[in-house]
Amino acid sequence: MTTTDTAGTALADTLTRAFAGHFGHDADGVWQAPGRVNLIGEHTDYNDGIVLPFAINRSTTVAVSARADRTVRLASAFVAADPVEFDLDTFAPDQAAGWSAYPAGVAWELERAGITVPGFDLYVTSDVPVGAGLSSSAALECAVALALSDLTGAGLGRAELADIGRRAENNVVGAPTGIMDQSASMLGTRDCAVYLDCRDLSSHPVPLGLAESGLLCLVIDTKVSHAHATGGYAERRASCVRGARVLGVGALRDLDAADLPRAARILDDVTFRRVRHIVTENERVARTAELLTTHGPLAIGDLLDASHRSMRDDFEISCPELNLAVDTARANGAIGARMTGGGFGGSAIALVPVDDADQVRSAVLAGFAVRGLQVPDVFAVLPAEGARRL
Ligand code: ADP
Ligand code: MG
Repeated sequence: MTTTDTAGTALADTLTRAFAGHFGHDADGVWQAPGRVNLIGEHTDYNDGIVLPFAINRSTTVAVSARADRTVRLASAFVAADPVEFDLDTFAPDQAAGWSAYPAGVAWELERAGITVPGFDLYVTSDVPVGAGLSSSAALECAVALALSDLTGAGLGRAELADIGRRAENNVVGAPTGIMDQSASMLGTRDCAVYLDCRDLSSHPVPLGLAESGLLCLVIDTKVSHAHATGGYAERRASCVRGARVLGVGALRDLDAADLPRAARILDDVTFRRVRHIVTENERVARTAELLTTHGPLAIGDLLDASHRSMRDDFEISCPELNLAVDTARANGAIGARMTGGGFGGSAIALVPVDDADQVRSAVLAGFAVRGLQVPDVFAVLPAEGARRL
């Protein structure tokens, strides 16, 4: 047995006991799906563009049992309240509140896709930090989607399950996010990033080779919380739609650098900068994937830096804490750093030579302390396997 298998078995045992304690009977099985870090390609997914995320060694795990009726009971170690209970026959998206909208949304979207879902009891635990930009939401959706697909014998493919998760987030949670997070969680493979074309949904693994190059990927969770269902995220998405319409293309994916002078002439300044971020970000993703293959991860630092500047100045989704994390990491040995995820808070990532990791960590902690900011969490993540049954 590998270390991962042993840890997985121990976790499954603990979770099975917690499930029995909560519901008074045994679970049918335990399923797990990881959070993700986006290496590069931010806000490009809903513009039909390309992204390069990887699944991480932090996961959400669910114990589930099918019921003979149509009742759903949901409990999470993360939420102190009693289990949320509802009936699948009377469920409507607008009645799902809070965290239960994620698992309820997955069940609802499976039914809309023609799969009859039985009632079920479900208990969740997770070590993906919540609201930190590492997609605890997709981890939860994908763990539930895989569990229900297995339990119903629906046998949906991984890309289909990712899309069920996205639709739950869009239609039931109400967050207009793209397909990236769920794809990373479903399609991740060890030591690789997932190159995903969000137009035709083709994907392939890109070896990252971090360990071979003596690099670590550090996450700096700024503890600044974000909310994608409201505000900035939706506004950015609307700007992209407007930019594409005015420029006469189906999606910003259809533009390249040669189109930018025309875009500058006919768009207002803000919309132009939103468009420029998407166009240049798609190019950076393609170049990053290419460089990883030909030269390895030591060659991609400049692209990560450029991506951060573009998000800070053009797309304007960074915040002072994320900028501080990125600048401090870079000044203390990181070869490249950027905010990751939807923005307005959450986490930054830094590629750091193993020997400099302690220095980067203490410099970031000191930089936040001196400004009286919340203590950030700084930890390494490994590119890991996607969702699975334990
Ligand atoms: P992120 O995906 O970056 O972590 P989101 O705001 O998209 O942040 O998703 C976080 C939300 O997902 C939480 O507020 C909660 O509703 C739900 N969630 C995530 N993990 C869990 C969990 N383990 N138990 C219950 N709800 C969870
Ligand atoms: Mg999320």
